[in-house]
Amino acid sequence: MLAEKYIETLTKELESRRDALTAMSRTIWENPEIGHQEYTASKLLTEMLEDNGFTVEKGVCEMETAFSAVKKSGKPGPVIAFVAEYDALPQIGHACGHNLFCCSAVGAGIVLSQLQEELGGEVRVLGTPAEEGTVPNYGAKVVFVEKGYFDDVDAVFTAHGEGETVIERSLVAATMIKIKFKGVAIHAGGDQVHGKNALTAGMLCINNMNAIRQQNRPCDVVNSIVTDGGLAANTIPDNCELQFSVRSDTSEHLKRVLTNLEHSVQAAALVTGCEYEMEAVKNPMRDTKSNHQLGMVLAEYLDSIGAPYVQADSRNFAWDVGDITYVCPTLGSYFKMGPEEIICHTPGFREAAGSQLGFDGMMLAAKGMSVVACEYLVNPELREQAWKEFEATRK
Ligand SMILES: [Zn+2]
Repeated sequence: MLAEKYIETLTKELESRRDALTAMSRTIWENPEIGHQEYTASKLLTEMLEDNGFTVEKGVCEMETAFSAVKKSGKPGPVIAFVAEYDALPQIGHACGHNLFCCSAVGAGIVLSQLQEELGGEVRVLGTPAEEGTVPNYGAKVVFVEKGYFDDVDAVFTAHGEGETVIERSLVAATMIKIKFKGVAIHAGGDQVHGKNALTAGMLCINNMNAIRQQNRPCDVVNSIVTDGGLAANTIPDNCELQFSVRSDTSEHLKRVLTNLEHSVQAAALVTGCEYEMEAVKNPMRDTKSNHQLGMVLAEYLDSIGAPYVQADSRNFAWDVGDITYVCPTLGSYFKMGPEEIICHTPGFREAAGSQLGFDGMMLAAKGMSVVACEYLVNPELREQAWKEFEATRK
């Protein structure tokens, strides 16, 4: 049973901010900034939060464009966090719709905080840079989790754009590993007996991983590329560099595939006499599982306004929200912000993210998140159920 009287207040307050949120989102869309360089977006978002009574700390987690905005009621109650992404892709701009993502989080945080006098608790909006894996040190949410920003949070809400609304999307755990083999360079037709072929080690490593594919679970996905395979065909290469993208449905299963990779590297090094280094280009991101109890409240709200949705599906993508879903109940939903056929990271998605349909979706996301968060505040049974599910599935 949704808290009807609050829904009206929240949606009315959001509608009164539609123009301001849309203008901010459009400006961010027109000025796309890649991960860790989102200076304009971070400034605009924190200014709006400050103007609405939030205490803002910038540059948290040793990231210049990260921020934490907090508004406390002074009355005891749950801590609700809305998470914002605002990075764009190189060249193609806001083709993942993060200009909508961040403004829906800020909008939801502001309107929920206006009910705090009555409802108590604390509202946070956390600005997490560099979600896209196109810059070094991407995945800021993993750092926020490590630094304890969610340790005292009761529930987290976050909304991504899509061609259709999907309430609970399960995503995989993933990581990227760089491997270097070091051998001994020597003329390939001369004293080759004394060479140590690093490219052979690299090829063996890939073949070892292929040899063990039969024992992979269906959800284990391994893809490799050779980024350095030598310079001259008449010299035995002393350097070889590979990159492996590894995914699995859960963090536990991912660990198993990474052990296979380590063994494959060691075996290749042993056979060829090469030395090796293994380095995570990106620390593993955990799998994402949205909280079903919170998802059911969102479904009830969407039903009440006649908005279509898919309750649950799964994809082979990874998202740094996954790490948050292991700390507290998290609603990580996708909201319709464009035509059904749009695919993220394409020009079509970028156009949708700057269109009326996109801004309407942003408003729907802000309404949906704030309504579910409000229900969480006023409904102790929901809090209990959400945590019960969390304890049973994510611990
Ligand atoms: Zn995205």
